[in-house]
Parts: sequence; structure tokens; C-alpha cells
Amino acid sequence: MTDINTLTVSRAARMLQGGECSSEELVSSLVRLIQERDGQIGAYLHLDEAGALEQARAIDRARAKGNVDPSNLLAGVPIAVKDILNVKGQPCTCASRILRGYVSPYDATDVARLRECGVVLLGRTNMDEFGMGSSTENSAFQVTHNPHSLDRVSGGSSGGSAAAVAADMAIAALGSDTGGSIRQPASFCGCVGMKPSYGRVSRFGLTAFASSLDQVGPITKNVEDAALLLEAISGRDEMDSTSLDLEPPCREGALRRDLKGIRLGLPKEYFVKGMNPEVEAAVKSAASLCSAAGAEIVEVSLPHTEYAIAAYYIIATAEASANLARFDGVRYGFRSDRAEDVLDMYENTRAEGFGPEVKRRIILGTYVLSSGYYEAYYLAAQKARTLIRSDFEKAFKECYALLAPVAPTAAYKIGEKCDDPLEMYLGDALTVPASLAGICGMSIPCGQTTDDLPIGLQILGPAFREENILRVGYAFEEVLERAGKSEGRGV
Ligand code: GLN
Repeated sequence: MTDINTLTVSRAARMLQGGECSSEELVSSLVRLIQERDGQIGAYLHLDEAGALEQARAIDRARAKGNVDPSNLLAGVPIAVKDILNVKGQPCTCASRILRGYVSPYDATDVARLRECGVVLLGRTNMDEFGMGSSTENSAFQVTHNPHSLDRVSGGSSGGSAAAVAADMAIAALGSDTGGSIRQPASFCGCVGMKPSYGRVSRFGLTAFASSLDQVGPITKNVEDAALLLEAISGRDEMDSTSLDLEPPCREGALRRDLKGIRLGLPKEYFVKGMNPEVEAAVKSAASLCSAAGAEIVEVSLPHTEYAIAAYYIIATAEASANLARFDGVRYGFRSDRAEDVLDMYENTRAEGFGPEVKRRIILGTYVLSSGYYEAYYLAAQKARTLIRSDFEKAFKECYALLAPVAPTAAYKIGEKCDDPLEMYLGDALTVPASLAGICGMSIPCGQTTDDLPIGLQILGPAFREENILRVGYAFEEVLERAGKSEGRGV
């Protein structure tokens, strides 16, 4: 009998529709596994067992009465949500002490859209504080361990969502990606993670880190599920002026097991010095498999890639310093009780509430925006951003999509990079360019290291051409399986 915890969204939908299992059974089974396993992994910050069971029973009742549209594949499917998105009536901590005690008064638009489809909201997943980090070690509450090897990081900042999906403790999850926070943990945990183009998905109710970069996206067990979730959350939202009124990517158009005649680019700057040779080999062999399946592989150049890390860490910190000014002890969550007067109250609240990485970024961001330095840093970074975007535009004139590594290494040991923020930042070199350019990207498993750690392949596509990367990813899944290399995500 199938272990229902391992189901994908589309298989769960079929079983729910066929009456082979109920949403309540699915939720109960996941809750049991979470209770058994999550003590070791630490993916969840908050499990809403009672609420999830209630939602599941309501969907089961509606289905029994014939009130669930059969084309709605998400109804009754339990999904985990990163603790950076507001879910009405639930805590939303962003893994920060400063939001302790805060309860969301409203649903983020993406959450509301999932709710309308009848998705069951299982709980909230761990992350780096406010999304700042690459390993989920910057959470104020717990580290999320990689389900493939418990002494290794899950990646970040959406490490809890990726680990929950990889360990079958959620059927799928939502994450957010500012500079790689969906793609990199998906790669470290062996899941599919998709960062939509900037403007594809509403940011309303997503706690802002860097508003010109943040996007919400799915972390799933396969590409079809990523397409399903993206379809449900994408589209114009009156509450986010940067969201666009576009048709969601066409699932039928994208989900074709066919690579024939399409040109895929390998950006030469993405095979950086010092990168793990096993990662490089896995990505290059993925390209060869695509070529054997009929794609044309060409080398392309994205010459301004080397400026991406510097530009990203200026722009992201500048925006963060402004966005995080709202956490002042007055409006949200935690307030220091060690204050004599109001200024003291602000200072002590922020000093006690924020963790060290968040403080580092606020200080850096305030510095690069300060008068006299603005032109030297912020303006220069914006110019580099434009050059990076035009590199991609040129490459996409010739290529349908690009293939690249997600990160220079597979998951590293917990604690290995904690004391060296710069080393941690450098690990983002291959994900931040797509964020700066606003294009879409996906991470998909493409192999394992000799230590059995997952390796991710990054598929990048032109802005608003999510169909391209879904198609390449979907076809690649089959190509990999035929080559006998997809040992599966399950652990
Ligand atoms: N690791 C990057 C950072 O620390 C990206 C994080 C993210 O995408 N939220 O900023």
C-alpha cells in the first residue's frame, strides 16, 4: 500500500477524488510523521494540528456532497507555509524574537488563494530570520537539519519548507526567494523549487525583506506540482502594485516530455573556481542528457555575473534597512521591558529583538544609503543590476532557457560557515543574478554526491516565461529517470 505521506499533489488529488483516502486521513498521517520525525529535523515552527484537521474535514464533507470541482486538484491537499507569510489567526514570527507574540490579522494573498482552492494549511516552517541567510541557522528558534544527512544544513532561507517536503512531512510547501531562498534549499534537500519572475505572484502579506527582489513560490516533490501551485497563486492582486495581470503559465503547454529542437545555454561564468567538482560534473552530465534527448546545448556568456554578489548585498540590505524600520516595539510583537523612555524602548526592543545577521544587514543597508555614500554604493549597484539584466536578455535572444548549478556545493555541515558571513554570502553567487534580473528560475534534482547528498540543476528562463523552465524541468525529470539517475527525493 502507498505510504500516503509520500504522495505528490497530483497523486494525492487522484486518491482524494477516487475516495481512496480522505483529507482527514492524509492530515492525520502527516501529523503522526511530523510528531515522530520533526524532533530531529526541526522543519516546523508551528504545527496547526487542530486547524488543519478542521479544514480537512470541511473539504471531505464538501466532496461527499459533490461540492468540489474535479478540476481543482488542490482541494484537501495539506501544504506547509514558510513563517514569513501571514496566515490569519496564526503566529508569523519570521523566525525572529522581535515578532514573538504577533498573530496575523489577515491572510497573505497567496495563502488566501490556496485557501480558496481548499488547500489545508498544515503549519509554519522554519527559516533564516526575515529570510536573511542561506542555511536556516539564522533562525532565532532552531536549526533545520537536512533530512538526507542530519548533521548538514537544509539550506536557506526556506530550509524548513524544503526539509518538510523532502522528509515527506508535507505534500508541498510555499517558500520565498529574494536571492535564492527557494532554489538553494530545494537543491540541498533534493526537491523542486521555483522562483517565479518578479511580478508573477503577489507579495501582499509576505513580510518584506527586499521589496524589489522578493517573490513567493512553491517547493514540491516534482515539476508538475510546482506548475499546479504556481497556477493557483499567480496573477494580479490589487494589494500589490507590482503584480501583473498575466495569464498563469499554461500547464498543458509546459508539461510536455519533449526537448527536441530547443536551445539551452550553459553560462560559462557559472562554473566558478572553487566549486565542488561533483556538482560541476552533475550539471554538465544533465546538459549531456538533455542534448541526447534532442536539445541543442550552447555555451553562453553572462559577463557581469561577477558583480552580482556585491550588487545584491548592497540593494538587498538597503531595502531591508528601510523595511525593517517598522519593527519598533510599538506596532508588532515583542517590546523590551527594560526601557526608561520612548527612545530607550525603540533601542532596546531592536537590540534584544533582532539577531546578529539582521543587525549586520540593517547597519550595512543604512550605511550604503547614507548621504555621501549613496552614489558610490547604491547607485553603482543599481547600474550593475541593469548590466546583469541585459546579459540575460541577450542570452535569451538565442536560448529557450539556461542550465546552471544552483550553488557551488551540496549541503555543508551545520556550523561550518556560521562564523564567516562573507563565505556564506559567496554561496549565493549563482542564485542572486536571476533575482536581480527579475527572471524566473527553478531548482530540480540532477544527481547525488558520493556522500549521497542531492545536487540541484538550476533552470533559468526569460521573465514571465515560466512555461519554458517548467517544460525543460518536466522533460528533464523523465530523461533523468530513463538514465537511471533519479534515486528519488525520498529519504
Ligand atoms: N541567502 C541570501 C541572503 O541571505 C538570499 C536569501 C533569500 O532569498 N531570502 O540574502
